[in-house]
Amino acid sequence: MLEIQPIRAFSDNYIWMVRGATDPRIVAVVDPGDAAPVFKSLADGGLSLAAILVTHHHADHAGGVPALIAATGARAFGPGRERMPDGVQGLAHGERAHLPELGLEFDVLDIPGHTAGHIAYSGHGVVFCGDTLFSAGCGRLFEGTAGQMLASLDTLAALPDETRVFCGHEYTEANLRFALAVEPANSAIMDYVKRVAELRARGRPSLPSTIELEKRVNPFLRCRNEDVKSSAERRAGRTLPTPVAVFAEVRSWKDTFR
Ligand SMILES: [Zn+2]
Repeated sequence: MLEIQPIRAFSDNYIWMVRGATDPRIVAVVDPGDAAPVFKSLADGGLSLAAILVTHHHADHAGGVPALIAATGARAFGPGRERMPDGVQGLAHGERAHLPELGLEFDVLDIPGHTAGHIAYSGHGVVFCGDTLFSAGCGRLFEGTAGQMLASLDTLAALPDETRVFCGHEYTEANLRFALAVEPANSAIMDYVKRVAELRARGRPSLPSTIELEKRVNPFLRCRNEDVKSSAERRAGRTLPTPVAVFAEVRSWKDTFR
């Protein structure tokens, strides 16, 4: 199984560090918004950075890329449809990020909605989905429509159930409070609340999640579920005839949920 460790950045970002399949001292990082904690992890572990994967253009995901490229010469990949720092090779849906130094390669999936060109990297039983899918939640719609975001979440939900999901932020506890407001009778959510509380109390990340778990607890992946639909309709005060309408209502509900 691929060995992946979190590097914490800012208040709640995760920079994921992937170890090479042949030599675990050769690593890649995903979404290095800040170079400093990456340099520290490399120095502490005697590691060599060979590759950088970026999911979208936001500074808390791409801000550390120029300094890391300059210092290490790592090859860097990012979304072909977004502005990226110099030296980042743009990739489109269906292309692959080849990381020969690590003996790994990842498929690129287009998952717009949070940003217009957001991509995910999928392979080796894992997916790096940036700010599109969070555990028990999803990203805000800064540059896309509800229809785009729902299609992107459907793309991710279609990955194999056992796929480990590496998201860009530690938002799980707050997301679960909202998920329970949407589905108060969902026992999978209640079980997960307990498990996450235990992990967080020990200072551990709640991530990675799995696609299988997200399909049971994440309201944004459950817009076709009758309980989620009726909950959204109660809040909207009207019938929501399509999954996109349900998604849009749940998303705007979350935007103001405290
Ligand atoms: Zn973002």
